[in-house]
Amino acid sequence: MQNVLCSVSENTSSSIICFDNRNKCIYVNDSACRLIGASKDELGVFEKKFEGYINEFIEKKSDYEVIKTDYEIASQIRSVFIEFQTMRDKKDKYLGCFFKMEDRTEEVKRFEMEKYRATHDSLTGLLNRVAFMEQATRILFDNPDGKFYVVASNVREFKLVNDLFGTKVGDMVLCKEADVLRKLSENTGVVAGRISGDRFALLIPEDYYDEEMAVKSIEDIERIMKVYDYKLRICMGVYEVRDHNENVQTMYDKACMVIDKTKNDYLKVLSYYDTSIMQKAMHEKNVINEFDKAIEDEQFKMYLQAQVDNEGNIMGGEALVRWEHPENGLIFPGDFIEILERTGHIYNLDAYIWEQAAKKLCEWKQNGITDKHISVNISAKDFYYMDVYKSFTNLVRKYDINPDNLKLEITETVLMHDLEMHLEVLDKLRKFGFQIGVDDFGSGYSSLNMLKDIKADVLKIDMVFLRETENHVRSRIILNSIIGMSKKLGMKVLTEGVEKEEQIGALKEMGCDFFQGYYFSKPICVEEF
Ligand code: C2E
Ligand code: CA
Ligand code: CA
Repeated sequence: MQNVLCSVSENTSSSIICFDNRNKCIYVNDSACRLIGASKDELGVFEKKFEGYINEFIEKKSDYEVIKTDYEIASQIRSVFIEFQTMRDKKDKYLGCFFKMEDRTEEVKRFEMEKYRATHDSLTGLLNRVAFMEQATRILFDNPDGKFYVVASNVREFKLVNDLFGTKVGDMVLCKEADVLRKLSENTGVVAGRISGDRFALLIPEDYYDEEMAVKSIEDIERIMKVYDYKLRICMGVYEVRDHNENVQTMYDKACMVIDKTKNDYLKVLSYYDTSIMQKAMHEKNVINEFDKAIEDEQFKMYLQAQVDNEGNIMGGEALVRWEHPENGLIFPGDFIEILERTGHIYNLDAYIWEQAAKKLCEWKQNGITDKHISVNISAKDFYYMDVYKSFTNLVRKYDINPDNLKLEITETVLMHDLEMHLEVLDKLRKFGFQIGVDDFGSGYSSLNMLKDIKADVLKIDMVFLRETENHVRSRIILNSIIGMSKKLGMKVLTEGVEKEEQIGALKEMGCDFFQGYYFSKPICVEEF
């Protein structure tokens, strides 16, 4: 029996060490000798090594324990799992104990590797999104009184870097950014992670938050593209943590909102979150959520603002939308047009307003008024979501109106992309009989370049760009020249935003044909008009 048990014990991969009830080592197998580095004749070595464990467990009155410990074996650190078990007879009398040890180094390594892979981004080696959120949450939870910042960073137009220089260069940029962030996080309590694509996140304790250093780090990252003669732009949004119980993802989203808000500001590399950003985002969400129902419930109303000739006769009006919100009252286009354009909803609203305009012209026609026009706005986005030509020609047929009475206003943005296609549509519309006006000339969008390409009937000059300047003389020279040029190009001129009588006199002298502005009338509801 003893021989059998011995041979079984020698043939297991575990190391086995047995002690009697006086802590004398009575048996070790070969594997145990290899692991501890002692022979079967040196049982004292084993006694010394395990004495501490035995005393500890006996004192705890424990019959079974498992512990993991590191052993240095052949100058290598090995992960060893030690199982401890007492032996008792039928009457529960203590006979001794034994240890079973297993070298699980490879397993532990594999597990740690897997854990690393699951929590780290494979390209940059930084924490991934889930791990970043977890770690940041834990730190905030462990430091309820500490002050922290959550910082989001983003490479502007990163797609362009990939497209121009290839993904290898794109990856290099990301790795460089990761390196810089990693350096920031060394020995500082800063947590850095890669959230997705070109978006990174940091959790920074107040003591280590240093705006100057952040800007320097950004410059450091941007420098890597210098060899390609490309101006790389990194921007960061900073959110100051106020409530540690807030979800870290939400904190990060808020830091991102700052970046998105300053997207068009090329000089800003670092901006801070404030509540107005949240309010803006909420407003935006509300506009989008409520839009379809608002169209359905006819909450959008066409207002008209008079357009007059140089003798003060009303020629017609510009259709300007107002949102008569059931709870929030009258909302002006400045609060929703841009949002609808950006989110691809504007064509629904425009199609609706165009139809209101056509309907009204039809009604006027039935009442014998055929010499007044309605001028409608076309957004650049409309061309991508619908057939603009078909929409207008269908309206003319449906309501049996003269296309001459439905005027179309476009801004330069229409011609910024797909120039040929848009010019063709506008040309076709003109041939059909619609008059085209170039809107907002001089307000920053329209340029001389567009006038070269587009054949329009009316040029609308915005008073705003001349308003409130000291350079009266210069303004007059510019206005005079624009009006003269329009005439030579065969266009009539309408000045909008006219508020004062003196403006009209001067503009008339320069040859302006039409006027629009608060001096004559604000935009008013159709009935009043
Ligand atoms: P816009 O086409 O340049 O329209 C003229 C804007 O100037 C109107 O603002 C009008 O109320 C304002 N305005 C007119 N006279 C004066 C004046 O004497 N002084 C001043 N300070 N302002 C004056 P509104 O109605 O708020 O519209 C703003 C913009 O929203 C419009 O600029 C237009 O780009 C857009 N918009 C309005 N309705 C529509 C629409 O149905 N579709 C599209 N796509 N855009 C629209
Ligand atoms: Ca307009
Ligand atoms: Ca305008």
